[in-house]
Amino acid sequence: MRHTASEPDFQREPESYYEARKAVHNKRIDGNFRRFKWAVMIVTLAIYYITPWIRWDRGEYAPDQAVLVDLAGRRFYMFDIEIWPHEFYFVAGLLIMAGIGLFVVTSAVGRAWCGYACPQTVWTDLFQHIDRFVDGDRNARMRLDRAPWTLGKVARRGFKWAIYLLIGLVTGGAWILYFADAPTLFADFFSGEAAPVAYITVAILTLTTVTLGGFMREQVCIYMCPWPRIQTAMMDEHSLMVTYKDWRGEKRGSLKKARKQPEKYGDCIDCTECVQVCPTGIDIREGPQIGCITCALCIDACDRVMADIGRPRGLIDYATLDDCEREAKGEPARSPWKAVFRPRTMIYFGIWAAIGLALLFALGTRTRTDLSVAADRNPPFMLMSDGAVRNSFTLKLRNMESRPREMEIAIEGLPGAVLWTDMIDRSQAAASQRVTVNADQVREVRAYVAAPRGTQQQEFAFSLTALDEKAESDLVETRFDTPEGP
Ligand code: SF4
Ligand code: SF4
Repeated sequence: MRHTASEPDFQREPESYYEARKAVHNKRIDGNFRRFKWAVMIVTLAIYYITPWIRWDRGEYAPDQAVLVDLAGRRFYMFDIEIWPHEFYFVAGLLIMAGIGLFVVTSAVGRAWCGYACPQTVWTDLFQHIDRFVDGDRNARMRLDRAPWTLGKVARRGFKWAIYLLIGLVTGGAWILYFADAPTLFADFFSGEAAPVAYITVAILTLTTVTLGGFMREQVCIYMCPWPRIQTAMMDEHSLMVTYKDWRGEKRGSLKKARKQPEKYGDCIDCTECVQVCPTGIDIREGPQIGCITCALCIDACDRVMADIGRPRGLIDYATLDDCEREAKGEPARSPWKAVFRPRTMIYFGIWAAIGLALLFALGTRTRTDLSVAADRNPPFMLMSDGAVRNSFTLKLRNMESRPREMEIAIEGLPGAVLWTDMIDRSQAAASQRVTVNADQVREVRAYVAAPRGTQQQEFAFSLTALDEKAESDLVETRFDTPEGP
């Protein structure tokens, strides 16, 4: 159905539901928040790129890479901590802590994660610095964008995209180094001897890094990432966010006008510096919005303008909605620390800390010996020629230390029963047997338990004890089946 020009606006179909992206050419700025952003960027990138190269001595039986996800050996190494597959709850605990940690940060300082430490923010910031390095600051980049495709522009773009590609390659390359011995994989990668999955992973991560950080940038935060929506639900009137104090700034007008009629104008001189430095290209003066990642660069920009025109800083500042209302009524400003240390934040922090302490306690008290038992249930028992009843089991003996250990398997709670294994003849059957388990290994043992004629079906236990100075042990209960039944 076609609508006529005389129809009201809301009845007209929009020409398009798609709004083309307007490139963001943010201006260089210096200030406290920008310096803090630099520090976070350098530290996080350094951690990411350097960590796989850190060596950590774990003895001759374990890898010497400080952080390693050893998929083949089914282990996760992080400095002195070694997580086995059956201890995955530690990883789950860390993920839960990471999630609650985001709650803590958001309730205390708003979207600080988005503004400073999110990988999308860090890499976008890095690519924006490359733009500035190659093409110049905001005005030069805007001119170049509008300029026709001359040889010079092609060469400049080619050079810049080559740097993008290099960053993508280094990023994807660093990722795979977390999954194998870094120096070996690095050499294999460039000699063409690495596994195909390594090349495929690097190719995918290079592509995603360049696409998301180099080209899509703020669109990821505004349209793709669910976190801003979740955060919006977690924030309240006491949460800190970057705010333009309109009661102080409005009515905005040029410095010239403001100087002529100071009673008519507020502190905002409409210089748009805050908009020009914004990495997501928004105007914070229009109020809180999902595109604001609270990086606070607009605070740096506006503080500088206020200093230049001799007005107090903080026209744009970190503030809560509650504080804004109070200040708008003329009440004195409150310290932002009040928003950080409040009951809600403390509760989140308490939960986060409790999980962390529980994990630390579990890590500190866990043993490096573990036993698992699986009984044969088909057949559940066998009658021996002497009338004894035999049950068979598969035992898994874990030695989680980086040295071979002798261990003792014993039967508890089954009077008169004897035990032997697939490595020991029945003539040597006894109430306990010794087995050596190699360093950092799981040893599978077939175990046979024979109980005298007349034994009733009953619960009993296997115990595993390390025969060394630590004497760590583990006990697993299971059932002994007999023809007599329970
Ligand atoms: S930087 Fe400050 S003075 Fe300039 S437009 Fe933004 S809010 Fe107004
Ligand atoms: S409005 Fe300010 S705080 Fe928000 S993203 Fe832009 S520069 Fe950062």
